Amino acid sequence: MELLKPVQRVLLGALTAPAVTRLFSRFMLGRATIFVLHRLQDADRGTPGHDPQALRGFLSLLRRERYALVGLEELFRWMAESDRRVSRAVAFTLDDGYSDQGVIASRVFAAFDCPATVFVTTGFLDGPLWLWWDRIEYILRRTARSTLEIELGRTVLHYQRDDEVGYRRVQYDFTERCKHVSEEEKETAILRLAAVAEVDLPERPPPDYAPMSWADVRACEERGLTFGPHSVTHPVLAQTTDLQSRREITESWERLAAEARAPVPIFCYPSGQPYEYGPRELATLRQLGMVGAVGSSHAYADARAFERSPNARFAVPRFGYPPDLRAAMQYVSGLERLKELWRKRDARSQEPGQGPQHGS
Ligand SMILES: [Zn+2]
Repeated sequence: MELLKPVQRVLLGALTAPAVTRLFSRFMLGRATIFVLHRLQDADRGTPGHDPQALRGFLSLLRRERYALVGLEELFRWMAESDRRVSRAVAFTLDDGYSDQGVIASRVFAAFDCPATVFVTTGFLDGPLWLWWDRIEYILRRTARSTLEIELGRTVLHYQRDDEVGYRRVQYDFTERCKHVSEEEKETAILRLAAVAEVDLPERPPPDYAPMSWADVRACEERGLTFGPHSVTHPVLAQTTDLQSRREITESWERLAAEARAPVPIFCYPSGQPYEYGPRELATLRQLGMVGAVGSSHAYADARAFERSPNARFAVPRFGYPPDLRAAMQYVSGLERLKELWRKRDARSQEPGQGPQHGS
């Protein structure tokens, strides 16, 4: 089985040519691709993110190959109606509401007349909030300390700066750990981190971490972007109290509805793995009249799931937008689906629990 893997890789490389990928469309019956993007690379500012030029290349290819570039709300309708266009449908979403999404992404998508939905963290746009993982990054990039000892809930963490990557691995570790404690513990731990690292946290996000404004939202709507709610402060909803969970969903929708001209009634879970939200959030979304919700588990949106369960439209998965065009084509063409089937076959032939991990 191991010997087959290099062969599969070569085959996949050869088969990503657009003309050939059309042959794989039968694997996509009832399945649509929804991508999620985060920051856009800003060459002037030198901030990292998705390369706008590469995104242009992908959108151009999708247009040339006649994929259905569809808005998220319309895609939900197609899914509910088992519309045949679903299997060629590609929807783009961008999370959080950073200023680069307003300035850069809106122009790229507009140039290809491609709909895209930005999910905004409304407290971020209202200010002075800045996003909690950005505060962790800011602290760890600026600290002069070579070791850090931080209390997180009941755990004491001992971190050491790495000569090659600095605190990059620590940043990942600490951020992930923060998703598994209560909101209060997380906020306390970030303040402790700033104190131990001897870094002053500005009250408002510095320009590299800044949100778009509500005026930007309306300007982007003119260019064809749409906007959906993504909570007020971006907590892991499973870690919030009943009251906070309700407020995060309800108030973000109300703020967005007050500021945007045509808000999209689809919620985006902040931290959208299936264990990070649950029936409590679903009940609030239904009461609020939302038509659905997207998460961040790595899979195709499946119209048959909509048929099977009325709750499926409140847990629609999305693929993280990959950095290279070949990988992006694998999702939309159905090659990723084929790989999924290969992986399942491999897993069946191995010991239980030894199967390959899902994801590219
Ligand atoms: Zn987010």
